[in-house]
Amino acid sequence: MTGDGTRAVRAGLPEAAAYQPPVPGPVLAAHFHLPGDPAEAPYGYGRENNPTWAALEAAVAGLESPGTPAHAAVFPSGMAATSAVLFGLLRPGDTAVLPADGYQLLPRLRERLETFGITVRTAPTAGDAQLAALDDGVRLLWIESPSNPGLDVADIRRLAAAAHAHGALVAVDNTLATPLGQRPLDLGADLSVASGTKALNGHGDVLLGYTVTRDPALADALRAWRTTTGAIVGPMEAWLAHRGIATLHLRVERQQINALAVATALRERQEVADPRYPGLPEDPAHAVAARQMRRFGCVVSFTLPDREHAERFLAALRLVDDATSFGGVRSTAERRGRWGGDPVPEGFVRLSVGVEDTADLVADVRQALDAANTPA
Ligand SMILES: *Cc1c(COP(=O)(O)O)cnc(C)c1O
Repeated sequence: MTGDGTRAVRAGLPEAAAYQPPVPGPVLAAHFHLPGDPAEAPYGYGRENNPTWAALEAAVAGLESPGTPAHAAVFPSGMAATSAVLFGLLRPGDTAVLPADGYQLLPRLRERLETFGITVRTAPTAGDAQLAALDDGVRLLWIESPSNPGLDVADIRRLAAAAHAHGALVAVDNTLATPLGQRPLDLGADLSVASGTKALNGHGDVLLGYTVTRDPALADALRAWRTTTGAIVGPMEAWLAHRGIATLHLRVERQQINALAVATALRERQEVADPRYPGLPEDPAHAVAARQMRRFGCVVSFTLPDREHAERFLAALRLVDDATSFGGVRSTAERRGRWGGDPVPEGFVRLSVGVEDTADLVADVRQALDAANTPA
């Protein structure tokens, strides 16, 4: 038996070899010495493959699918990985079902998919409402669970079984959970797709995306898309992300403790509406989350009375940066409505807990809530 921590520190590393580094450094190469037939060569040109990607891909595949062979492909951002699935696997005339409340760029991607003759249907994540959008004409179901930023949870096993009965492929955006929080392939999905920019890398210094599948043909199609469109990650970024995975287990464990403590503190407050965290026993998504998630992530969301109140809260925080993104070692929060892409109230705040001491973080959130209750 190997636990998550043990797997994380060794993920994707080569066998120990005398006088070699435990973690090979980034291989910065546009091309490799290439005698003979390129089809036989693991590495020939840097747009096709790179040993630093290969190590990171082995790490990610091992975490998303421990014990069962799987194939990962890394991309320069979560959107590049998402685009590889949606544009690389769908054809004109196909129909895809997307979440209505998923990542804020999905509606922009929808417009582009439609210009290529792909039909898109959307339905909310909560209540497995995507089930009603499935029929035999659907080629791909895209699930985002937990959804960002609303933190609704879909029953992945149930949706995947229904989609497969209609002959559709199932992809799950696993960004929020990370592979240590949820393993979509074990729950029946064909593809786990994520932004590694968030908790996977966890240090706020790299953009990254990945796809993982157990189906070699899907893996080949996604790699071919990457080679053809040229959406490749730099070796330095891939190496940094791989280095960060060694502490993924420690980070997600502390983040889960911090998130639950912050969410619990938020529930005690009169001015806070609709505090959400899938790990809170009282959360409407908790029952389904507890059946399929192994850890509940680092994002908490809630709503303050109005925009000004939320801005006062954000300005009063000392340990939590007013910044977008999530999953980093330092806590961040933002008023999500400032982007205009999410259907959320003006006072809606998405807070991502870092790995600070729990008591410090809860105290900071409490003092900022107190400060925000007094208009300047
Ligand atoms: C951030 C995010 C993405 C996009 O990832 P990038 O790395 O920013 O391109 C996709 N899905 C979810 C759920 C995200 O949070």
